[in-house]
Amino acid sequence: MTTVNLRDGCDRRQRPVGCVEFNYWCKCMAGEHLALISVDGLQNLLDALKDEGFRLVGPTIREQAIVYDDIASVDDLPRGWGDEQSNGQYRLVRRKDQALFGFAVGASSWKRYLHRPVVKLWQAERKGHSWRIIPDLPSEEKLALIGVRSCELEAIKIQDQVLLNGSFVDSHYQAQRDSAFIVAVNCAVAGGTCFCVSMKTGPKVNTGYDLALTEIPGEQEQTVFVVAIGSERGQLLLAKLPHRRASKKECEQADSVSKRTAESMGREMRTDDLRDLLLRNLEHPQWNKVAERCLTCGNCTMVCPTCFCTTVEDTSDLSGAETSRTRRWDSCFTMDYSYIHGGSVRGSGGARYRQWLTHKLATWVDQFGTSGCVGCGQCITWCPVGIDITAEVHVIRKSETG
Ligand code: SF4
Ligand code: SF4
Repeated sequence: MTTVNLRDGCDRRQRPVGCVEFNYWCKCMAGEHLALISVDGLQNLLDALKDEGFRLVGPTIREQAIVYDDIASVDDLPRGWGDEQSNGQYRLVRRKDQALFGFAVGASSWKRYLHRPVVKLWQAERKGHSWRIIPDLPSEEKLALIGVRSCELEAIKIQDQVLLNGSFVDSHYQAQRDSAFIVAVNCAVAGGTCFCVSMKTGPKVNTGYDLALTEIPGEQEQTVFVVAIGSERGQLLLAKLPHRRASKKECEQADSVSKRTAESMGREMRTDDLRDLLLRNLEHPQWNKVAERCLTCGNCTMVCPTCFCTTVEDTSDLSGAETSRTRRWDSCFTMDYSYIHGGSVRGSGGARYRQWLTHKLATWVDQFGTSGCVGCGQCITWCPVGIDITAEVHVIRKSETG
């Protein structure tokens, strides 16, 4: 990234993006570079990304839920739809306005596109008495992720830490991640199971995006987006679109969107002393109590945007002429996951739930330096029996404090 001096009058001496063309934004709120685009401008943004060879992935409605899938235009976004979420419950609801991003995090996460559920690692073909190995090279597809929320951005950073910044780099993840263009969206509503404020991961995006939008809904095409620039390539793309400087009032409106959302979190969880609290309660009776309800289905790990565990499977055709090795998402809730010679290490549901929760909130800190939870609430919404990570922690904390 380049760093350039800003014009006189800016209260920040330097910004990590060049702003030569855009110095009229320098005095906007908190030194951010804020522009304004319309719904047509958003369509222009999607078109420009498409012209640059990006595959567009964004929120859209499938089977009565908002998921991340291929989109072609703003018409594919869930215009006028919101959602209601609580323990084990999700449903779409009609909004009174025509907001395009008027819902909380959806039923799937961006992990599906960056750390893919199924990756073929290699295949081999028999050639007489030898084998020809055909490696499966990382995808060269460029992804534009449209509508990434703050907690999701923080989850991507956590997966970066795991899959890119350790001793071994996951080349498949790296290929997707390096090319991804991220259009973030500041949440205008908190879902019933969200607790990003407790985890300090939202609701306003912080870093890690190319462009960040705050939607100010209006009637039909009157909706506008206040745009913040997060990278040089975001700035260059915005320069190609019809836009104008956001007014002070529009900047204030955008700011109040995040403040309102922060005040309406569906859940909260105390995080002080959390790691030590859990590690000194590894034999707490609550682990067995939660096991009475837990189906060990693994849904929570599949929807979690930070869970990264995988397994590998080898398959051969019946003639023995071809074989392949595939990597798949796996879950610490399966018996096989902790199987070693003689049996599974974590044989009971209680042991498996304890492993998952204490890894997320305690040992993850030792391993990677951050919590493994971003407070998105998806494990609560999509747990078929409505088990709530915040409630389980609360029970354990309360047993110590009375
Ligand atoms: S906590 Fe809920 S989602 Fe997770 S394994 Fe148990 S029943 Fe399934
Ligand atoms: S543990 Fe639950 S709330 Fe935390 S990041 Fe994973 S899905 Fe979201």
